[in-house]
Amino acid sequence: MKVLVPVKRVVDYNVKVRVKSDGSGVDIANVKMSMNPFDEIAIEEAVRLKEAGKVTEVVAVSCGVTQCQETLRTGMAIGADRGILVETAVELEPLGVAKLLKALADKEQPQLIILGKQAIDDDSNQTGQMLAALLGWPQATFASKVVLEDGKAIVTREVDGGLETLSLTLPAIVTTDLRLNEPRYVTLPNIMKAKKKPLDTVKPEDLGVDVAPRLKTLKVAEPAKRSAGIKVPDVATLVAKLRTEAKVI
Ligand code: AMP
Repeated sequence: MKVLVPVKRVVDYNVKVRVKSDGSGVDIANVKMSMNPFDEIAIEEAVRLKEAGKVTEVVAVSCGVTQCQETLRTGMAIGADRGILVETAVELEPLGVAKLLKALADKEQPQLIILGKQAIDDDSNQTGQMLAALLGWPQATFASKVVLEDGKAIVTREVDGGLETLSLTLPAIVTTDLRLNEPRYVTLPNIMKAKKKPLDTVKPEDLGVDVAPRLKTLKVAEPAKRSAGIKVPDVATLVAKLRTEAKVI
């Protein structure tokens, strides 16, 4: 059984992003880029399923610029068997990515696609859901546990007030939440091994997909600066201020 894992190259989560002065977006020049953290969890889960003998092949896919190859190599160092780069300089939107992944799924025929629940750069939380709709497959989003048995994926999801468990008939889409697993540390020997694994490159045109943007960003702005706090001499002043100034009591 084959598992496809889409991995996105995003600004590293430790980087404090800066908004461009013209408000057209964030500045990513000379900024450290890494695999989207939820996608690391997705790769880890697919590799664990392979190690448990439930899966035979893990294929990592990344859509974007040539440097996404590095993201794919990281995925292969975690344990993916091969990588596919859908190379384009176009700034991709979730619908465009979902269409590319649908075309690849038609070609590769995976039984399971594990995506991150959201990319930490655009925070869209749309691609997995759109892909499930395009493929007509069942989906379980925000997974905190995945078990494969008898042609089904049994997925536990964290919902308000508890845990929900779903049974999905394969092929299916799963998106990962933070508590699904803790990705392994990538070792140097595995980084070296990953360099020799197959990495194919295709273009959106080869897949017959139009990725032209449908959305226009009007403005990107920094969050409002927090004003400085003040010290109050006693509880009575605090209560008075909460009542008359903040008006919260
Ligand atoms: P989003 O809908 O943008 O929040 O992304 C959700 C998930 O879709 C990510 O965690 C990835 O698994 C996948 N994804 C989004 N964009 C890409 C991309 N350019 N290449 C590969 N996978 C992607």
